[in-house]
Amino acid sequence: MEEHLKPLGEKTLPEKLFLLRFKVDKDNHLILNKDVCWECDERVCLFICPSEVYRWDEGRKEVIVSYEGCLECGSCRIACKEGAIDWRNPRGGFGVSYKFG
Ligand code: SF4
Ligand code: SF4
Repeated sequence: MEEHLKPLGEKTLPEKLFLLRFKVDKDNHLILNKDVCWECDERVCLFICPSEVYRWDEGRKEVIVSYEGCLECGSCRIACKEGAIDWRNPRGGFGVSYKFG
């Protein structure tokens, strides 16, 4: 069998972890309009994000954003019907890198 048609071998955990790399910027690239979020009942951002960037802080009674783990998929931008997320790409050189594109 030709080499490129052979099944991929099992990966070790370190190899799997290196499929993604994050270079975290000091600036948050996901800014919420807190006034709009305050009025929001559905809070779909808490459920749509594959990386759990958005979490509900019960003490502060608000959605908090851990932008450091953002995969830049854009799902939250579409899912928030209120348009409350000022969504930007991280600055050049920052954010997530995918080993396979
Ligand atoms: S970001 Fe959008 S979905 Fe999430 S709480 Fe704010 S308004 Fe609601
Ligand atoms: S862009 Fe994707 S990974 Fe980043 S916060 Fe939005 S839903 Fe989560």
